[in-house]
Amino acid sequence: MNAGNLLEARALIARKTPYQEADLIVSWLTDHSGQLGTMARGARKSTRRFTSLEPLHTYAICYTESAAGGLSSLREARLVTLRPTLASNLDAMSIAGQAIRWVRTLLPHKQPEPRAFVVLELLLDALEARGEEGRSFAEGELAKMGLDLLKIAGYELQLDACVSCERPRPLDRSAYVSLLRGGVVCRAGGGGERLLEPPVFTALVGLSREGTAETTAVRELVQLIDDAVAVHAV
Ligand SMILES: [Zn+2]
Repeated sequence: MNAGNLLEARALIARKTPYQEADLIVSWLTDHSGQLGTMARGARKSTRRFTSLEPLHTYAICYTESAAGGLSSLREARLVTLRPTLASNLDAMSIAGQAIRWVRTLLPHKQPEPRAFVVLELLLDALEARGEEGRSFAEGELAKMGLDLLKIAGYELQLDACVSCERPRPLDRSAYVSLLRGGVVCRAGGGGERLLEPPVFTALVGLSREGTAETTAVRELVQLIDDAVAVHAV
């Protein structure tokens, strides 16, 4: 890519760091450029070019690549989807923050992965629309998004059959899961480091069929996804 060309992306803020007197270093998750680090000159002095840069909203950004392959230069950031309800709901915000961390952890720099951006935006939109329904709704949506994200990143968790012999897992029994091997592993196949009890599997089915499931089990599922993301950190 040539330095100086004006590029565009749809983007969410992953991280903001003040730099020197008036500047901001802004890391973005984008639709077609993966993760992107930009320098926003003067962003803390004037909001003319950048409006106010806050997380959880979607921006249309214009930027130029740096010649040396370092930070890109942010030229313009325009709000395209404002999510005011989400940005004022602490539970929803912490759920959104966890989803953004997952994408940041799994998404390579400057490599396009539009589907990861899509599932993240869908989660934020769901939290914006139905965030008042409380933490258990939000955690269920997070679990669904996390399973989709792992699949997109190539680390799908197979929880309905053994990853070694493909034998279906008995529905009402606990099972061992190996995060490195990507799902349930039967005893003959070597088992896994973590024992999951039946309610977690019931929660999986509930989430996919009805969109909701029992809170404690969903929380355990979110923890499992969180650990799987950590195992596969880029
Ligand atoms: Zn097996």
